[in-house]
Amino acid sequence: MAASGRADLEGSNLRRRTLLRSSVGLGVGSWVTGSVTDSGAAQATPARQNTYRLRTHLTKLQRIAEANGGNRAAGQPGYDYSARYVETVLKSSRLAVHRDYFDYETLQTPRQKVEQSTPRAKIVQNFPAYGVSWSPSGGDTGKLLAPDDVFGDSEGSWDGVESEGGIALLKLRQGSKTQVSQATAGLSGLTTQCHVPHQSPRAQRAGDSVRRQLTLAAAAGIKAVIFYSDNLHFLEFNPGQDRDLLPTTSVDGSEADLLLQDLAAGPVVIHVDLEVRLVRTETFNIIATTPGVTSTHLIGAHLDSVPSGPGINDNASGVAVLLETALKRAGDRRNPWRFCWWGGEEAGAQGSSRFVRELQASGGIDRIKGYVNLDMAASPNHVISVYGNDQGLEGLYTEYFQDSQQPWVREDVSVGSDHRPFMAAGIAVAGLGTWGPHQVKTDEEHALFGGTAGEPYDPNYHSSQDDLANVSWSALATCAAATYAANRAVTE
Ligand SMILES: [Zn+2]
Repeated sequence: MAASGRADLEGSNLRRRTLLRSSVGLGVGSWVTGSVTDSGAAQATPARQNTYRLRTHLTKLQRIAEANGGNRAAGQPGYDYSARYVETVLKSSRLAVHRDYFDYETLQTPRQKVEQSTPRAKIVQNFPAYGVSWSPSGGDTGKLLAPDDVFGDSEGSWDGVESEGGIALLKLRQGSKTQVSQATAGLSGLTTQCHVPHQSPRAQRAGDSVRRQLTLAAAAGIKAVIFYSDNLHFLEFNPGQDRDLLPTTSVDGSEADLLLQDLAAGPVVIHVDLEVRLVRTETFNIIATTPGVTSTHLIGAHLDSVPSGPGINDNASGVAVLLETALKRAGDRRNPWRFCWWGGEEAGAQGSSRFVRELQASGGIDRIKGYVNLDMAASPNHVISVYGNDQGLEGLYTEYFQDSQQPWVREDVSVGSDHRPFMAAGIAVAGLGTWGPHQVKTDEEHALFGGTAGEPYDPNYHSSQDDLANVSWSALATCAAATYAANRAVTE
């Protein structure tokens, strides 16, 4: 499915679009050929020049990632150079552009390894706790021990157990935890993971009985503790008072069952290497407005990538679509839209959340009639998807697609991206993307959009392979055409 697959995909799309253009004349066709009667630069720009401009933006952002450690993550040089590029491109417009600085803290886990070696080699999915001690360099290896008293929180729990140097597997008591602060939930990046509906662990503040379990285990010579309960938990301790407690992590019920089965059958040897850091990131959003106009609508795309890759589909594609739309709309002195390039989306929609808080604090939020989100506008095995909580706003896209007979599918508005903070603040939201509501493309979607059924919409999501080769140029052109049309449909 590598490069060749994509070439085929492109071929089939191009063929289909040619059909489209010949059958309907306007919509995508006209955007591409520039034959309709609209004012401004858009008219004179042939299809290849438009895709050329989009391609230029993506190529530039790819080169920036390559020159800066392979990513454009917030707080990293790749993000700052990406921002300079956006600002340089906008310089040619009449838009007023400014940076909106902010910082945030996230938890990063440089070491998060739990690895079983006996009776079989196995990586154990786990979520390290915050605020306790880290594993020594190289981690700890020892026998896995589950005392008869599964909680290990009574004085005699470890009596008669050869526990020196062991790794403990202990059950979490119900109620032994309290709801963590929103800040810590945000800290752990447990709020919004880009596009992934919520399957993340529950964030819980560790209570005294958990501290007791750890203290008794340490007294018994235990080196590290693995807690388990039905659901995966992220445990928050208070670094100020708990920094000496044993290195600690959590697993969910299914991982624990496997470990307990192995323990029942014989000795289990396990390696634990844990380190959780609180990292402060300083970054900024880029905001562009039409001078002299009070904007009533916002449209945004996140500019940052994940640390593990250049983020070309996620989300240089959205950045490019927004850039082209802003440039084309810049000539309209009544343009009510504010154009926003967000920072820190991959760390939990940090930039957009901060912006919404500012709007709420200033009272400016009352003027905002809607927010449109652009995220992943070029998935290699794409669909065209629309999501939102407001028919009027979604209609900006769906009516355009209807008119231009462009197939589209509905995506669930609960997916994680920058529209979430606006939605939580009661603002009407809509969004455009190229991934669907399923894990892989369905046969029905294949019939509408081509590509490969049974395969993910973006097989390189959040990886180093999310690069220039991971782009559907036809999907990107379709998203750019639709966004320009949707944007023009709203006037002051
Ligand atoms: Zn994204």
